[in-house]
Amino acid sequence: MLKDNHGRNINYLRLAVTDRCNLRCFYCMPEEGLNWLSREALLTYEEMLRLCWVLIGMGIEKIRITGGEPFVRKDIMPFLTELSQIKGLKELTITTNGVLTAPLVPELKKLGIRSVNLSLDTLDRNRFFAITHRDELDKVMDTMHTLLAHDIQVKINAVVMEGKNIQDILPLVALTKELPVSVRFIEEMPFNGGDSHYPVLHWDHIKILDEIKSQYTDIHKIADPAYSTSYNYKIPGHKGDVGIIAAYTRSFCGSCNRIRITPQGALKTCLYDGGVANIRDIMRSGATDAELQTALLYAISNRAKDGHEAEQQRIAGGIHESMATIGG
Ligand code: SAM
Ligand code: SF4
Repeated sequence: MLKDNHGRNINYLRLAVTDRCNLRCFYCMPEEGLNWLSREALLTYEEMLRLCWVLIGMGIEKIRITGGEPFVRKDIMPFLTELSQIKGLKELTITTNGVLTAPLVPELKKLGIRSVNLSLDTLDRNRFFAITHRDELDKVMDTMHTLLAHDIQVKINAVVMEGKNIQDILPLVALTKELPVSVRFIEEMPFNGGDSHYPVLHWDHIKILDEIKSQYTDIHKIADPAYSTSYNYKIPGHKGDVGIIAAYTRSFCGSCNRIRITPQGALKTCLYDGGVANIRDIMRSGATDAELQTALLYAISNRAKDGHEAEQQRIAGGIHESMATIGG
């Protein structure tokens, strides 16, 4: 088992395959988009497959494909097919905004994908437009129903934002009554691609839970799976369940089992660090698999103890990047 310098198991890779996106969620990027990375700056599919192969050999068991929006990158399906065939990979999952996903669900099912995270911050069309700057709610809902029809587990990610979707918290919880979905509310983080000073978080995990309890007084805590980043709850009689992710408070770092690779091949051993190794350049300099492994191991053996320490260790002051360049 791969372990970091704090004794934490590392078995989960989040791989962001592009920074591009067909939505403009305001908490993630500016309305005009980002200065998209050039094709040369991105890891190629061949580079990603090699890196995944090496990491699986080192102990990575689960890979989540994210972005940007993974399905806007050309030829993503052949890449997923190859990735799914690497021996030793136990779980392949995806995080998607659901706009282009529904028609691909049968193929995803064939690849053995058992669970998909779908971003959905509101069930109201006008607020969906206000948050994402695109009128695509119907396609996202279609993706949710198509996934469920194919017996693929759906985890809905909803970022909780003061002044934007507080009125959606209870309707999103209500979705769990008839549908077997996990609705996970996420504290908003400062990765919006701009100059985000973040002195006060209005909606932390405690306030989110209080809001849910105001209507669902019988909601109760259930056991959190190993390495879970969410506090998990059940409402009696509901088919689905509810989770709350303290992503800004950072209360789950003690069991963090994940590393991240950005679209341009930076290794992040914490969401809040500024990138701790440039894997793309190491590969392009002609490194052997053994040298690549040494570089990965060095970074994993020098991991910050938590997200607060990682943020402090950033060379450039402040957080200015978009979550689309990290993958969530
Ligand atoms: N485009 C895909 C999607 O939206 O599902 C995958 C990439 S997106 C960056 C991954 C996750 O990060 C999404 O669930 C999104 O809601 C979340 N996210 C983006 N910006 C965030 C922020 N500032 N705070 C909290 N979560 C954020
Ligand atoms: Fe795109 Fe996902 Fe960022 Fe929204 S959260 S802009 S869907 S990458």
